[in-house]
Amino acid sequence: MIDYPGILKEIHTNLKQQNNKGKVATYIKELSTVDVDKFGIHLNLIDGQNYSVGDYETPFSIQSISKVFTLLKAFSILGNDLWKRVDVEPSGNPFNHLSLLELENGIPRNPLINSGAIVIADILVSQLDNPKQDFLNFIKHITNDDSIHYDESTARSERETGFKNYAAANLLKSFNNLNNPVEDVLDFYFHQCSIKMTCKQLANAFHLFANHGICQQNIVHSTPSQIKRINAIMLTCGFYDEAGEFAFEVGLPGKSGVGGGIAALLPNKFTITTWSPGLNKKGNSLLGMQALEQFTTKTGLSVF
Ligand code: GLN
Repeated sequence: MIDYPGILKEIHTNLKQQNNKGKVATYIKELSTVDVDKFGIHLNLIDGQNYSVGDYETPFSIQSISKVFTLLKAFSILGNDLWKRVDVEPSGNPFNHLSLLELENGIPRNPLINSGAIVIADILVSQLDNPKQDFLNFIKHITNDDSIHYDESTARSERETGFKNYAAANLLKSFNNLNNPVEDVLDFYFHQCSIKMTCKQLANAFHLFANHGICQQNIVHSTPSQIKRINAIMLTCGFYDEAGEFAFEVGLPGKSGVGGGIAALLPNKFTITTWSPGLNKKGNSLLGMQALEQFTTKTGLSVF
């Protein structure tokens, strides 16, 4: 028997005492004013047991974690045609890197870097009747929580500072890999990044990645094969130029965001989320990565 609550408590207590908690993102005020001492962890076992510690019920900006939800939605609508417009290789570069995109003729390396996520956003703007509303409803449904919303002030700040995202979208447009107007696609993208969720909500929403595409409400959203592929992309690309390090240290598919959240999972077994807003140099949560490394080491549970 694994003592999950004991392990989570020990990890949380030890890491909270650490002096170096990383640095909160400073490019928008909504992120730069978050308290660096916040730290929450939530664990859902697939059989329904759940355990949490710290600030697991405080909503935070999910930012790039939203990219796996848009990917799931676009993949389930388009099927394998999706891969004509975006590749599945790790980029080895920061999330907003641009030069590879030009070199590779407007086909983003993968759907979890910004350029790839912007192509996915373009697909959803084309395919959904009311893109922002429909996507938010999807998130509410898989979380089983109606209170989730876009943070309009965050979305506005993202727009005001999103010069590199505009550059990426324009580059995609010049290569004919964007069908809708840049402004419409980025409006959707900035909104998806602005969604606020708690560790607990995020762990609930991630259930379908650990359960072959079936959410906690027992609704099928995707095929097992598509989920296998999304999990593979999370493992190889979910942490930008630190994906190798995360696989090496933690050994789980997962996704990070510059709001300091990380969501990860072990198929058929659990989903786990951490939130600590201080980031390391690569833009991933410093304590979150350490917490997950300790969790998989102490429990002996990982995909390897
Ligand atoms: N909104 C951020 C951006 O597009 C998201 C980046 C992230 O979480 N890595 O730059």
